[in-house]
Amino acid sequence: MPSRRPLIAGNWKMNGSESFVRAFCGAIARAQIPAGVSVLLLPPAGYLAQAVQVLGDCGVECGAQNVHAAPSGAYTGELAAEMVKDLGGRWLMVGHSERREYCAESDELVAEKFQAALRAGLHPILCVGETLAQRQDGNAERVVGAQVHAVADLVGASAFASATLAYEPVWAIGTGQTATPDEAQAMHAFVRAQLAQIAPDQAPVMRILYGGSMNADNARGLLAQPDIDGGLVGGASLEVAQFLEIVRMGADLVSG
Ligand code: PEP
Repeated sequence: MPSRRPLIAGNWKMNGSESFVRAFCGAIARAQIPAGVSVLLLPPAGYLAQAVQVLGDCGVECGAQNVHAAPSGAYTGELAAEMVKDLGGRWLMVGHSERREYCAESDELVAEKFQAALRAGLHPILCVGETLAQRQDGNAERVVGAQVHAVADLVGASAFASATLAYEPVWAIGTGQTATPDEAQAMHAFVRAQLAQIAPDQAPVMRILYGGSMNADNARGLLAQPDIDGGLVGGASLEVAQFLEIVRMGADLVSG
């Protein structure tokens, strides 16, 4: 089986403060991050530079939760991918379900943001996932497949080389209701099969993270699945001890 280095990413959403960033990132910088696992923090953009500075050279990277698709211009209140890079970010999450829902982001707009990440030299994390109604109607695979293919249609297969996928069932985000390891694995295998159609060489080595109420109690079972290569952690990433526990579980996958 191809080896995919596990990645544990913390999505802080719209949470944090100057003192929170100092304490959290300071604790991460002092922690012994086990070898074999990558760790990423996605703070609110206003704290990105501070987080990068406090983390220093500890090996934990940062990114942004969203950008505008344009490189610059008259878009008051927006942030460009190039600015994320300028602030020290290396990653950019696109297509989070909260943005798809609250900001009416279409599959096509998400694809444009993915392209903006590539243009700026950032690693995109493409979030995909179905709502509860879509799952209950038997449309989960159709929805998730369309979300993946919309990006491939715009940017082309080669663009997936530096990308990470995150499967986040909308019904599991922030609800405390996690997909079971079997449910998550089934959809991850489906996503990898879609990637294999798009980019056959890259599909076996691309990471697909699981997100949706992952915490220290359920992470081990999810991370043990063959097509789950890490976690995109929301609520539980705001508690440094719990986040580090999940990071260690990711590392155990490699060493165990
Ligand atoms: C997320 O915001 O990507 C997420 C998975 O949130 P939570 O872990 O809180 O469900």
